[in-house]
Amino acid sequence: MAEEKSPRPAVEETMIIGSGPAGWTAGLYTARAKLNPLLITGNDYGGQVSITYEVENYPGFPEALSGPELVEKMKEQAEKFGLTVEYDHVTEIVTDQHPFLVRTASGKEYKSKSLILCTGARPRYLEVPGEKKLMGKGVSYCATCDGFFFRGKDLVVVGGGDSALEEGLFLTKFATKVRIIHRRDELRASKILQDRAMAHEKIEFIWNTVVTSINEGEDGSVVGVTTKNTVTGEVSELKTDGVFVYIGHLPNNDLYHGKLHLDEDGHLITDKRMRTNVAGILAAGEIQDKVFKQVATSVGQGCSAAMQAEKFLADLEAEGYHDMGVDPREFPTYAPFVAATPAKATEQELVPA
Ligand SMILES: Cc1cc2nc3c(=O)[nH]c(=O)nc-3n(C[C@H](O)[C@H](O)[C@H](O)COP(=O)(O)OP(=O)(O)OC[C@H]3O[C@@H](n4cnc5c(N)ncnc54)[C@H](O)[C@@H]3O)c2cc1C
Repeated sequence: MAEEKSPRPAVEETMIIGSGPAGWTAGLYTARAKLNPLLITGNDYGGQVSITYEVENYPGFPEALSGPELVEKMKEQAEKFGLTVEYDHVTEIVTDQHPFLVRTASGKEYKSKSLILCTGARPRYLEVPGEKKLMGKGVSYCATCDGFFFRGKDLVVVGGGDSALEEGLFLTKFATKVRIIHRRDELRASKILQDRAMAHEKIEFIWNTVVTSINEGEDGSVVGVTTKNTVTGEVSELKTDGVFVYIGHLPNNDLYHGKLHLDEDGHLITDKRMRTNVAGILAAGEIQDKVFKQVATSVGQGCSAAMQAEKFLADLEAEGYHDMGVDPREFPTYAPFVAATPAKATEQELVPA
């Protein structure tokens, strides 16, 4: 039974933006810390995990469970301790005043002393016929997550960067053959990965080729792809049991341009305590992690960000800044991170919108 929700205060202690694994975890921890948190779900309720057919690698669930089931469990657990959930989408955050302002698509405006940004990322889709329908039925964007389901199968990887090659190499542990389809005749991936992939007996490259559709068999799963040669225009049919797409991963960073430091790929820059360059604004999950990109890692980061938010608020109270007249960027405990932030990150005046 969920606890009775208290009326919203004029100024929130903390707000969480995003309803993926990082967001729910931040919600759970800040709720148990009695911060009366408010979570705004965003348009993609549950985040990427909600489009995951089966999650087998999240500890505590040996029988595996579907992505949407995991989302509901995370939500239920956080609500049990008092998390308030708003089904809305944030359109703007104002970070140069304290409390921060959060504006939403439904026209609401909130004030909050701290923010935990968990807006995640999304895979770039091929946008070809069959792709959406066959997600989880042979189409995947995560070899670490789904490779295991393809033991003894014939697979296709689409892409030519580091991720495509890394994941292609990983898939050779399970697959009998991995064909990497790339639209050009040379790869963007690092030389060491190229050498490894090209030397691998299970990997074959198909150059100057794009996938134009992913084809469904009678059992409702992937049976092949239709391809087109970008030089000759020749159309071919290729049989395969699975398609792994690695043509880019896009952080959901629209809210942060010109406000918070982003790296060259558009992820928020944080320190180990999940602090962004503005005191009181934390970030967790794939919006700041482009390396691990898992439910378990996003959950861990959501936990860290929540604990740090709690510490920030306690320090804020203890230092007497609770009158809100202070610029949070001048908050004393924040100084070490500003000093430690690499010069490139602080000087790089944010990735242009
Ligand atoms: C197809 C697929 C299968 C996967 N399978 C697995 C698996 O089996 N195991 C595993 O460990 N990992 C898996 N992953 C990866 C895992 O889903 C992600 O690592 C994880 O979901 C990242 O969590 P997150 O909380 O950072 O963000 P996300 O899950 O990306 O969620 C982001 C949230 O932010 C919200 N948001 C964005 N912008 C706004 C805004 N302006 N206002 C309000 N809210 C906003 C969105 O609505 C969404 O709720 C898979 C990923 C994909 C795509």
